[in-house]
Amino acid sequence: MTMFNVYQLVNRSIIRGSGSYVWDDTGQKYLDLYGGHAVISIGHAHPHWVQRITHQLQTLPFYSNSVIIPLQTELAHALGTISGKEDYQLFMSNSGAEANENALKLASFHNGRDTVIAFRGSFHGRTSLAAAVTDNASNRAPVNYAGNVIVLPFNNIQATEACFQNNRDSIAAVIVEGIQGVGGIHSATAEFLHSLRTLCTRHNTVLIADEVQCGFGRTGNFFYFDRVGVTADIYTTAKGMGNGFPVAGTIISPNIRPRYGMLGTTFGGNPLACTAALAVLEVLQAEHLLQNATNIGTRLQQQLRQVPDIQNVRGSGLMIGFDVPDSLRHLRNTLLTNQKIFTGSAGTNTLRLLPALSLTMRDADDFILALKTELRNGTHSVPRNSNNPDAVQ
Ligand code: PLP
Repeated sequence: MTMFNVYQLVNRSIIRGSGSYVWDDTGQKYLDLYGGHAVISIGHAHPHWVQRITHQLQTLPFYSNSVIIPLQTELAHALGTISGKEDYQLFMSNSGAEANENALKLASFHNGRDTVIAFRGSFHGRTSLAAAVTDNASNRAPVNYAGNVIVLPFNNIQATEACFQNNRDSIAAVIVEGIQGVGGIHSATAEFLHSLRTLCTRHNTVLIADEVQCGFGRTGNFFYFDRVGVTADIYTTAKGMGNGFPVAGTIISPNIRPRYGMLGTTFGGNPLACTAALAVLEVLQAEHLLQNATNIGTRLQQQLRQVPDIQNVRGSGLMIGFDVPDSLRHLRNTLLTNQKIFTGSAGTNTLRLLPALSLTMRDADDFILALKTELRNGTHSVPRNSNNPDAVQ
């Protein structure tokens, strides 16, 4: 059997990780500013996370949702406390797409409607509804065209107001990323999110904050929506929630009432997943990683802005994007090959930095130094080769 070939692979075998570093099978060390696509939140193989999961593995790795799993209540309590959403409810699953799928389904159950508003440049996952609300035709098979998804320009208040006017009382949900990640690190404006809140409240529509990439502390706030003071009806989270252990959450307002059978999953909320997420929350707090994300992110952005050829530096905390001119489109490749630094991309000319929230000042400075060296050495002339690091998303 061979692998079903859907990923454009970086030509490296990563076999070990620690903190903000990974090593390949030749022993080469890399600074990881990609974090396995925004997944590594507290650092690769964090000792507390390893110890917690190991203990759980030796105690009870799995039981199904047919019995009481105290770790779930413990996690819901901890999540409520750190996010300030004590009165919200948690439904657990295994991936960002599932978390969004469940959020959209719940919204429709809640108000009995079937139309969803999503935005240009959005990415919400690859399962059926998640693909339907994702603004990328190449992700959608014919079977994924739901027909009841309206895609509007991002950050356009007028267009959204007009859409509500024209579709009075049929919009079940609005789904939006606070910062579009796959779309290239584009932030929703505070005015836009506030207006979405007002429109959703006025029309009994469920506002879903997709915090799968920008949530769980990445921007320096637990949820990006907190940063602009907007409350969503449902938050979805995954990626950094487990620091690499597959776990996702749909975090639901007390106004949305559960009933038996509405949602369900075999693996979601299993003891190992709960333990991984609890360990992440414990480390986020003990090591003040939200504050660290703000500090290091601010410094990185300041320094990036001073580098010639680096354009449109943007983002929040440790979710940073910047553009490079076409002549530098191989920069991501040469940073990996020459400087041994992993970064992320979006399209051909945007680089994304999504490191562990424990990134140190020294790591950040090393990156800026390496970047300057690379630009000085004439990255312009390095051709794209088989070491192409442009992974999907
Ligand atoms: N939502 C956002 C904002 C994402 O960035 C992603 C993945 O990149 C998803 C949802 C889908 O998550 P998953 O790949 O875990 O299904």
